Amino acid sequence: MEMDTVIGLEIHAQLNTRTKLFCPCPTEFGAEPNTNICEVCTGQPGALPRMNGLALELAAKAGLALGSRVNERSLFSRKNYFYPDLPNGFQTSQLDPPVCEGGGLEITSDDGSPKRVRLNRIHMEDDAGKCVHDERRGITLVDLNRAGTPLIEIVTEPDISSAREAVEFLRKLHGLLVRLGVTRGRMEEGEFRCDVNISLKPKGSPVLGVRGEIKNLNSFRFVGQAIEYEIGRQSGIYAAGGRVLQETLHFDSQKGETRSLRSKEEAHDYRYFPQPDLPPVYISPDLVERLRLELPEGPEEAADRLLSLGLKDVQAQLLMERRGALEYFDSAVAAFPGTSGGTARTAALMEELFLPHCQKEGISPLESPFTPDLMAKLAGLHEDGTLGRRKVQELAEQLFSGGLDPVKVVRDRGLAQISDEGELGRMAREVVEAHPEEAAKYRSGQEKILSFLVGRLMKLSAGRAEPRRAGELLRAALSGDGDGGGEGN
Ligand code: ADP
Ligand code: MG
Ligand code: ZN
Repeated sequence: MEMDTVIGLEIHAQLNTRTKLFCPCPTEFGAEPNTNICEVCTGQPGALPRMNGLALELAAKAGLALGSRVNERSLFSRKNYFYPDLPNGFQTSQLDPPVCEGGGLEITSDDGSPKRVRLNRIHMEDDAGKCVHDERRGITLVDLNRAGTPLIEIVTEPDISSAREAVEFLRKLHGLLVRLGVTRGRMEEGEFRCDVNISLKPKGSPVLGVRGEIKNLNSFRFVGQAIEYEIGRQSGIYAAGGRVLQETLHFDSQKGETRSLRSKEEAHDYRYFPQPDLPPVYISPDLVERLRLELPEGPEEAADRLLSLGLKDVQAQLLMERRGALEYFDSAVAAFPGTSGGTARTAALMEELFLPHCQKEGISPLESPFTPDLMAKLAGLHEDGTLGRRKVQELAEQLFSGGLDPVKVVRDRGLAQISDEGELGRMAREVVEAHPEEAAKYRSGQEKILSFLVGRLMKLSAGRAEPRRAGELLRAALSGDGDGGGEGN
């Protein structure tokens, strides 16, 4: 039977604050265990939490950028469960009402049409600490540095239909939240992670199937792999006439498989109730308006703008998805000498060379020593023909990793492309004279031999000849115009 895949995501993003959600402890990553803690975030009796105002602003900002309603009043609740790294015995989260409701984000569906993935809600909550298992000593240690770190959880409606759509949605969302400054989004540090809810149903059926919930995926690749695996697993069960159980699953990235953590029957009863230690959260319409004004352009506006600048679809998408790429592009274009052409060149250089380089290095474009100003210079040298395509490719790695000034490099190393007729013409004649056999073959109609001669000329010019012009001048030299200065004049 043909089946539809139905996916809903729950994304946790760590808010970009210096201090925790309910106490002044720092949120820094990688500190000595249990040094960034106090009586509040370790759950000491009688300690009282106070909400971090910046966390609320960031949560609201995320909602505004995603078209959600920001609730003037929301409420923190206790979500009760027991776990060694949860010192309070409850997580402080928002059940009803959360800080934001509704909204959505547009992606391209698998059939190529635009599609809006609706959001159910965005709420604030605090993170748990960490259990560190010491296999050698056979003990488990608890580090509470992360306990109390502010998160937002973004919950989508089950509007996603494939692994590809899920990954596109997450990349877009990640890019947007990072651009807004809502989160730093470092996935390796767990600052952006997601739970994938996935079910299958007979094609076209309005009734949703039973879902599996894959917990805590912290890379786009794992999300894709986990979904593909789970589609295979569930469809295998249906094909064999079995029933899919509602389960919480863990994705083993080594094996590329999901594994059951607990079934629905063992699911927690969180016994949510309003957190009596915290007053309701109010956000004034004035503040919401101010935050709205601070918003940078939304993803749809940005995409429209890039396309109207003449960028290709893939280029626009790359710039939107990669952290810092759009800002980098905008600054480079602003610094481009002259008025036109810079956008297309810069977009192509970033797509083909610079963004792959940054990804390989694991840095954001804005962290690269090759600044947007230098990119503008490189685009300029390419645009005005000083550097040909091949030379740009050859130099790219050095320029990017060294943060070198391309103008200076071209000058110091004498790399400027030669398209000057006199100089190229002389080289063309020299090549023809040095290869009488090939020249004769060309004259007898074997025109393919020309590319060999162009190759010789490129070599003679140390790669600096402008290839198209070199071909023209060689042709002129071969057609017997032995002592002329090229064709046509
Ligand atoms: P819970 O909080 O118990 O995980 P929710 O009802 O809040 O459950 O749903 C969580 C996520 O699961 C949402 O993103 C929702 O869209 C998605 N979801 C709910 N039902 C299904 C289903 N049958 N198949 C796929 N996703 C689902
Ligand atoms: Mg869930
Ligand atoms: Zn604290």
